[in-house]
Amino acid sequence: RAARRDPINNIMFYDEQKEAEQREDILLTELRLAILRGEIDIFYQPKVSFETLEVHKVEALARWNSAKLGFVSPGEFIPLAERHGLIMQLTEYVVQQSCEQLVLWKEEKHSVNQIAINLSPTHFQIPDSNKRLIEIIRAHSINPSQIEFEITETSMMQSIERAEKSLDELRSIGFSIALDDFGTGLSSLTYLQRLPINTLKIDKSFIDSLLDCEKDAAIVKLIIDFAKTINMETVCEGVETLEQAILLQKMGCQYAQGYYYQKPVPANDITSSFECSNDMTS
Ligand code: C2E
Ligand code: MG
Ligand code: MG
Ligand code: MG
Repeated sequence: RAARRDPINNIMFYDEQKEAEQREDILLTELRLAILRGEIDIFYQPKVSFETLEVHKVEALARWNSAKLGFVSPGEFIPLAERHGLIMQLTEYVVQQSCEQLVLWKEEKHSVNQIAINLSPTHFQIPDSNKRLIEIIRAHSINPSQIEFEITETSMMQSIERAEKSLDELRSIGFSIALDDFGTGLSSLTYLQRLPINTLKIDKSFIDSLLDCEKDAAIVKLIIDFAKTINMETVCEGVETLEQAILLQKMGCQYAQGYYYQKPVPANDITSSFECSNDMTS
């Protein structure tokens, strides 16, 4: 059926809205079941060290390939889980899976020893949310420094007081904290210094325009230099070409994450070190 939309007021007509609601209902029912049955897969993506081209850190990314609905992107099911009170269950699931994976990698003497886990923007509003994660991690024999929590700048700024308290707690136990999609939000430099953050992840949008836009290149350089002065590490998100990697390495960025090196993959497919391209050292 053709979607009909009022061209002037851009409102959905009844039919279309009803269809959207029906899809949301079905998605929600399936998502609940998928979490319960452990049908969400966790893929991992390397954060490649520019110094050694080795991989000691990865990011965990949830993947849902539903038997009924096919592949549903995290961009759709994560906000859905947030809207319907399922996000904490999902976060706990990702933490659980990541802990088990770290134990396996340790047994295999694999190079990866840290997994970054995304926290939802609503994490800070959920009572006892830290406590529940800490309990799962304590049940495994891993060090808290082996887990990094990624939070977006925007979510942190929404409730800065609560976020600060919550992050202080996580940091004091020894977890690492990264600020995700950095540069897109509105955090002030004052807060950055005040909050217990270890890593800045420079948003993909800056990397995309790095080679064509001098202004964006200048911003990236500024973020990298600034991070250094306050003892934070930098990761560049969405590195897709060798040219970007070369420039970022020259600028002093520590880690690259992106399709140029590897897309998110199942744990067993993680590449633990990359070849140095000749161009990289020249
Ligand atoms: P994010 O945390 O910023 O994750 C990075 C996203 O960029 C991932 O998309 C990754 O696949 C993609 N990416 C990495 N390198 C490249 C590249 O070179 N090119 C392009 N085009 N994309 C690249 P993904 O997996 O679709 O996840 C999207 C967002 O969904 C994540 O953004 C994160 O905010 C959220 N998300 C994913 N898994 C989880 C989860 O387990 N929990 C929570 N709360 N959020 C999650
Ligand atoms: Mg992330
Ligand atoms: Mg990100
Ligand atoms: Mg992003």
